[in-house]
Amino acid sequence: MARPTRGARHTGRATRHPPVTLRTVYEGVIQELIDELGQLPGIGPKGAQRIAFHILQADPADVARLAAALTEVKARVKFCQTCGNVADGDLCKICMDPRRDPTAICVVEEPKDVVAVERTREFRGRYHVLGGAISPMDGIGPGDLRIRELLVRLGSGEVTEVIIATDPNIEGEATATYLTRFLKEVGITVTRLASGLPVGGDLEYADEVTLGRAFEGRRAVHA
Ligand code: ZN
Repeated sequence: MARPTRGARHTGRATRHPPVTLRTVYEGVIQELIDELGQLPGIGPKGAQRIAFHILQADPADVARLAAALTEVKARVKFCQTCGNVADGDLCKICMDPRRDPTAICVVEEPKDVVAVERTREFRGRYHVLGGAISPMDGIGPGDLRIRELLVRLGSGEVTEVIIATDPNIEGEATATYLTRFLKEVGITVTRLASGLPVGGDLEYADEVTLGRAFEGRRAVHA
């Protein structure tokens, strides 16, 4: 349910509020904010509306901090030139760490998946972040992912195992199948996580014990 609006904090312009329903189209900047919020993953029209009105009622200093955090994250956080993970500089902490095993690369979809695998403490190798998954419905093909960059890394000959840890859903499976075939041609041992992860979800939703076990039980796959 949308929070009841308290008129006191509003600017004088919006003295009367239309009834808060999903079909309501607000005017001007409020609708723009709702539209922008609605573009974010996991936020539907109802949630976008709720957040927009929360922001309208919030303390201006809190809103300023939120706006600054959004701007800062785009200005300061970069992506690692090697693996595609988030980084403060050209390389991420994991790629810069000489203690990480350079012979194993774990391929994941997003930087948040790196965090999920790191939490399990099962993996001491390096990562490769694809930047998404193959999804014909969304018009995302192999060419849109960082597969070429992965191939470049494998070219050095140092890597002996590629662990595919895409999400346990349709897009993740399609991506894993594509990568498996592709990497077999290159002659690299490809392993995949053992089954047991909650199907249909994201890697990050699996608890660390389950994900750790799936990692430990990974098996070589044959295309
Ligand atoms: Zn990196």
